[in-house]
Amino acid sequence: MSLIVQKFGGSSVANAESIKRVAKRIVETRKAGNEVVVAVSAMGDTTDDLLDLAHAVAPIPAPREMDMLLSAGERISMALLAMAIESLGHDARSFTGSQAGMITDARHGAARIVDVTPVRLREALDEGAIVIVAGFQGFNRDTKDITTLGRGGSDTTAVALAAALNADICEIYTDVDGIFTADPRVVPKASKIDRITSEEMLELAANGAKVLYIRAVEYARRHGVTLHVRSSFNNNEGTIVYNPSETEPAVEEPMIAGVATDLSEAKITVVGVPDIPGKAAQIFTIVAKTGANIDMIVQNVSAASTGLTDISFTLPKSEGQLVLTALRAEQEETGFKALQYDDQIGKLALVGAGMRTNAGVSAKLFTALFDAGINIEMISTSEIRISVVTRADTINDALRVVHTAFGLDADEEAVVHAGTGR
Ligand code: ASP
Ligand code: MG
Repeated sequence: MSLIVQKFGGSSVANAESIKRVAKRIVETRKAGNEVVVAVSAMGDTTDDLLDLAHAVAPIPAPREMDMLLSAGERISMALLAMAIESLGHDARSFTGSQAGMITDARHGAARIVDVTPVRLREALDEGAIVIVAGFQGFNRDTKDITTLGRGGSDTTAVALAAALNADICEIYTDVDGIFTADPRVVPKASKIDRITSEEMLELAANGAKVLYIRAVEYARRHGVTLHVRSSFNNNEGTIVYNPSETEPAVEEPMIAGVATDLSEAKITVVGVPDIPGKAAQIFTIVAKTGANIDMIVQNVSAASTGLTDISFTLPKSEGQLVLTALRAEQEETGFKALQYDDQIGKLALVGAGMRTNAGVSAKLFTALFDAGINIEMISTSEIRISVVTRADTINDALRVVHTAFGLDADEEAVVHAGTGR
């Protein structure tokens, strides 16, 4: 008997009809002779609606109460789903995050899972029940309070349950057929990927692919959980995200797994930095103190006549003002001339494990962009990724030409079942 963890997102359980449809699907998996544990998100836009309500009653809602409120969204869907399964004649039992043993640190709104003790889930499974767990929530042992894992946290709940229960597979149900070589909403000819390594998936998620949350992929990679990302609207095989091992090596490594884009970053340029040891350390110590997440960093060679250089870096737009203020406050000590802020940038990342053994990938990428008249402003690489920064308004064109240049276009257009990808 296999143990299968299934995660259904908000768009898969948006109303009573959808809940009944999902219930049938879960029952089919049970009837096929598997033990089934389900992690479920809040219905449709419930989480956003609850957030709006909170802000309507308080300018800065208390974090503890915010988690009490938001965790209610998943309690609604888990109970409804359990009822729907019961009415199909199968035993189902729903559990909150704390009942499921989802132990987290104490950070409200962004808690990290520190331990999973699914004792009650195991008991329910042994009694033959289908187990439904509220996604996105946990419990802290010190504060004894309810926590939430951050937006999209139900993916992480599912993966953590799969790891703790030693599941055979963790199925993530969504409204597209799997992971695509590019966002099918922008590139209609994006191809579905059959198998991808967790390492490649991590790079795609970190560079703007929205189909899976990065923390869930990280967790799966660290704990050796195999994911199957698939549509809840049909029975098609989706995408397997796996961890190559000695017993199951990466079978074939296509040169390019996919292309991701990201419009959420801005660029800060520190102009006229004295080119002497310690300056980069000084600047990035100031940046680090703000807690901002730096992505790319580029330093120019200094002009011999001035001994000054420029350092540019990218970071989430939401952290831009904070970092500018912090740098400005220490301009004199650091000795730079000026700061420039640019929030009209777009980032494109080409990802593929096969890059390790293939030369000429950069040349091909840059040529494709040149042919389309797109200017490259920054470049950074890792072993399995090449990223470029361009103007924000050219990023979708860039994505399409690069996708075509690397032969990723499919013969047919991809089907997108709902609007959001979640
Ligand atoms: N309901 C939460 C959210 O909308 C968690 C999730 O959907 O995974 O962010
Ligand atoms: Mg949601």
